[in-house]
Amino acid sequence: MPTEATFLLAGLLIVFAATGWAFAWFGDRDRDAELPARINADYIRGLNLVLNRRTDEALELFLQMAKVDDETLETHFALGHLFRQRGEMERAIRVHQNLLARPSLSQAQRDQALYALGEDYLGAGLFDRAESLFKDLTDSDTVAGTALERLVYIYEREQEWEKAIDAQRRLEAQRGEKSSHVAHYYCELAERARHDGDLARARDYLKHTVRSEAGALRGSLIRAAIAKEEGDHAQALGLYEQVLDRDSRFMPEVLPELFDCYAQTHASGEFEQYIERLVGRDRSTVGNIAYASIIGDLSGSEALRRCVEEFVYGDETLARLVDVDSLRSATPEHKSQALERISNALRNLGLASARYRCTNCGFSTRRFIWHCPSCKLWETLRPIQRFQLDSVMG
Ligand SMILES: [Zn+2]
Repeated sequence: MPTEATFLLAGLLIVFAATGWAFAWFGDRDRDAELPARINADYIRGLNLVLNRRTDEALELFLQMAKVDDETLETHFALGHLFRQRGEMERAIRVHQNLLARPSLSQAQRDQALYALGEDYLGAGLFDRAESLFKDLTDSDTVAGTALERLVYIYEREQEWEKAIDAQRRLEAQRGEKSSHVAHYYCELAERARHDGDLARARDYLKHTVRSEAGALRGSLIRAAIAKEEGDHAQALGLYEQVLDRDSRFMPEVLPELFDCYAQTHASGEFEQYIERLVGRDRSTVGNIAYASIIGDLSGSEALRRCVEEFVYGDETLARLVDVDSLRSATPEHKSQALERISNALRNLGLASARYRCTNCGFSTRRFIWHCPSCKLWETLRPIQRFQLDSVMG
């Protein structure tokens, strides 16, 4: 049911339109002759109908108006937009279809009406119809860019990545700018091919991911997973280490894979050296490594155990929960048992809370994803990478 605000807003629009004529009437005598008084009267009648909440009759009146000129056209667009905003898609569609039936529209006006109708279809969930309209508008002089944007939106939503690549490329060519979107679409195709077991095809798609930094990073992650799947641990190790060198925020995703690859190649000693090198290069990674090790439940590595220990000693909130002094002076056996208990408690806490948050809209999730399902932006999710101990401490 239309809300009260709909009636009032529609009423206001009609008042504006009617006022426009009033000004024209009193201000420009020459124009009076061109203005049929009937239209003015129709608008006043429309206003009355809207104010009396007889929207359907008001709509009919608008649709049957004999003449649509530049001024009334804007009112029609505003009315259609208003209906769409209110979720009254059928009415919005009728307004815009009615406009399109007018032979007097200019090309730009026709394109605007087609675009508005496409938006109505999109709002009504009629994606095929919306897609077909937006496709027809990709050569328009006025709305080609926004039509391509809407096509990209539809293809992303429907996960039609090849079509998304084509539309996004056209959009970027038209605007003379580049984004990482196309690389992500290729990564999506590669992930799908990998999932279907077609690794050769996945590799082909990945060739297109290097054109942006993020695409290259994500591409390397998929390549590493494929190499690991095929038992090529040396290649997987190289790729995973490359990813961490470029962006240590992927530690929780990458560390368990590295740990596993080193274990598979019976090179656990090299894993120890690798972790020591990471820490030696940048001490601030200790917290990241400890977090990833605890979350990933990686046990059996002395280097990781030392990172966890250092993290426990250094965390202010944790220090209020744990008797750090007696932990420091405990026998190695007791210390390792205590650290294991602390790690288990932290892991339960970590796995039960959100681990990634979108920097744009605040959407949070436990699983890493490249495309925010809430605001639809790419690469905006960042790992929180810390245990939310404050919630425990109250
Ligand atoms: Zn978001």
